[in-house]
Amino acid sequence: MTASAMTAVTEAENANVDDLTDGFHLLIDALKINGIETIYNVPGIPITDLGRYAQAQGMRVISFRHEQHAGYAASVAGFLTKMPGVCMTVSAPGFMNGLTALANATTNCWPMILISGSSEREIVDLAQGDYEEMDQLAVAKPFCKAAYRLNYAEDIGIAVARAIRSAVSGRPGGVYLDIPGAILGQVMKAAEGERSLVKVIDPAQRQIPAPSAVERAIEVMKGAKRPLIVIGKGAAYDQSDDVIRELVEKSGYPFLPMSMAKGLLPDTHPQCASAARSLVLKDSDVVIMMGARINWLLSHGKGRQWGEPGSKRFVQIDIEAEEMDSNVEIAAPLVGDVGSCCEALLKAMDGAGIAPPQNWLDQVHTKAQGNMEKMAARLQNNNIPMDYHAALGVIKQAISDNPDTILVNEGANTLDLARSIVNIHKPRHRIDVGTWGVMGIGMGSAIAAAVETGKRVLAVEGDSAFGFCGMEIETVCRYNLPICTVIFNNNGIYRGDGENWGGGDDPATTVFVKDARYDQMMEAFGGVGVWAKTPDELRRAVYEALESGKPTLINAAIDPAAGKESGNIGNLNPSSVVAQARYPQAKKI
Ligand code: ADP
Ligand code: MG
Repeated sequence: MTASAMTAVTEAENANVDDLTDGFHLLIDALKINGIETIYNVPGIPITDLGRYAQAQGMRVISFRHEQHAGYAASVAGFLTKMPGVCMTVSAPGFMNGLTALANATTNCWPMILISGSSEREIVDLAQGDYEEMDQLAVAKPFCKAAYRLNYAEDIGIAVARAIRSAVSGRPGGVYLDIPGAILGQVMKAAEGERSLVKVIDPAQRQIPAPSAVERAIEVMKGAKRPLIVIGKGAAYDQSDDVIRELVEKSGYPFLPMSMAKGLLPDTHPQCASAARSLVLKDSDVVIMMGARINWLLSHGKGRQWGEPGSKRFVQIDIEAEEMDSNVEIAAPLVGDVGSCCEALLKAMDGAGIAPPQNWLDQVHTKAQGNMEKMAARLQNNNIPMDYHAALGVIKQAISDNPDTILVNEGANTLDLARSIVNIHKPRHRIDVGTWGVMGIGMGSAIAAAVETGKRVLAVEGDSAFGFCGMEIETVCRYNLPICTVIFNNNGIYRGDGENWGGGDDPATTVFVKDARYDQMMEAFGGVGVWAKTPDELRRAVYEALESGKPTLINAAIDPAAGKESGNIGNLNPSSVVAQARYPQAKKI
C-alpha cells in the first residue's frame, strides 16, 4: 500500500462514513461518469456485491448463466454503441470463461472491457494456493489489446479511463482490467475519491487521411473499368452511415457488403452486388475495401475466386495502418476512419470524372437479377419436412415486413444460407459469428441487441450453435426481453442423419437427440415455445412473436438430410489420401 493510501485509510477510520467512499463505489462512479450504464455479469466471489451496488446506483446489471455469453453481450454492445461494453466476472475460472469473448472482441475489432475480480495478490504472487488462484493479468495479455491491474482504490479512476481509451481508440479491441478483491473494500475520503475519477475526453478522435493518400486513391479510381466497393463491419461500426451511402451512390460503383455490413445500404439497393458476388470478385479491376480486412473470409484476396493474378488494384480504407498489404499489395492505402476517408474522397471526386462504364453495371445487374429469380422460386417451396430454403423464405419475409428487427444469426448451413438469403434493410441490424466464425455467440448477442437498442430481435440459430449458449434463454425470460429465437433443428451438426462409421451402438459424432423439444425448454422458463413443422406454422409463430415482443423460442423442424458438411466452408476441412481410402463414406459427404 502506498503511503498516501495508508494515510487515507487511517484518517478514514476516524471519519464519518458519509465522508468516505470505497473501491466498489469508485469503480461504479468511474464507469458512470464515462457514460457506461450497463454491466453484463455473472455474480460470485469477489464481485457479487459489486453487481448489487451497481444496480443500487442505477446501473443496468444483466446477470447471465455463463461468463462467455456475458462477454459476447458486452462485445456486441461495443459494436452497436462505439462505447466499450463491460463484462464482469469472478476470478480464475469465471475470468477464463470471459476471456474467450474478450479475445473474440479483439479479433472483431470491437471495444469491450473485461473486469475480473482476482485473488489476494500477495498469495497469488507467491503461489501459495489461494481460492481461485491465478495470475490473471499475465494470462489475459496475449488475448486482448491492453491489460491493466489495479493495486489501490485511488487508482480506479485512472485505470477505468485507460481501459476505455485503449478499447475505443484507433482500431478498437478488448481490454482486460484486473481488480484484486481486496481493492473493492479499500476505503478513502469521498472528496479525494471524487477527485481521482477521470472523465475520458474524446477517446476516438477522427483520423483524417493524408491529402496525398486521397489523391492517390482518386488516381486509381479514375482508371477503373470494372470497379467494386467491399464494405465491412469496420464501416458499420463507424456509424457514418450517411456519408458512406453518399460515397457509394455518387461513385455509382457496385458494392458488396460483408455479412455484418449488410444494411448499411439496404440489400435491396440497385447497386448491391451480393447476388453477383462471384462475378464481381473475379472480374473487377479496382476494389475499394472499406473497413473490411482481406482475410480468410475473402480467400486472402488471392486464388481462383479473385480471377487472374495481378488483375486488381486495391484501395483500402482502414483505421489501422498495419492492416495494409496484409495479404496483397494495396495500391492506395487510406489510413483513417471510414467517415473521414469517405468525406475526403467525396470532395476529391468532384469533377474527377469518376463513373463506372455502363456495360460493367449491366453485366453485374443481369447476373444478380438472374440469381435472385432462381432463388425466389426455391424460397417458396412447401416441402415437409422443411428444408433451409422454405424456412428462410419465411424469415426473409418477416425481416422485410419488420425491418427494424435486429437479426442475430449463427450455425453452419443456417448461417451461410441466411446470410445470402435474408435481406437486411438498416445499418447494424445483423449480428453474426464474426471474423472467427465462432459458434455460441447467439444468445449473448441477442440479449445485448435487445438491451442496447430496445428493438425486437430475431435470433436464427442452428441447433448445434444454440447448444453452446442455450441456457441463456433463461436470462432472456428473466429480463423479459423481446427476443424470438428460431432454432433450425435438423437433429445434428451439419446434418442429422450421420452414421457411426465403426458400426457400434453409439450415435454418430455429429448427431443429436432426434426431434429434441427445445420449445419445451423455453416453456420451462415461462416463455412461449412453439414446435413448427411447416412454413405456415413457422410464419405464424414468428409474426406473433415479433408482434407481441414476448420471449419466444420456435423449434423449426428441418429435414435432417438438408444440410451440407461445414456449410459453405467444407473446403477448410483437412483430408488425406489415406483417410479417403480407408473410409469410403468420407467421399459421400
Ligand atoms: P469484415 O469481417 O466485415 O470484412 P473486418 O472485421 O475484417 O470486417 O474488418 C474491419 C476493419 O475495419 C478492421 O481492419 C478495422 O481496423 C477497421 N476499422 C474498425 N473501425 C474503423 C473505423 N472507425 N474506421 C476505419 N476502419 C475501421
Ligand atoms: Mg443442425
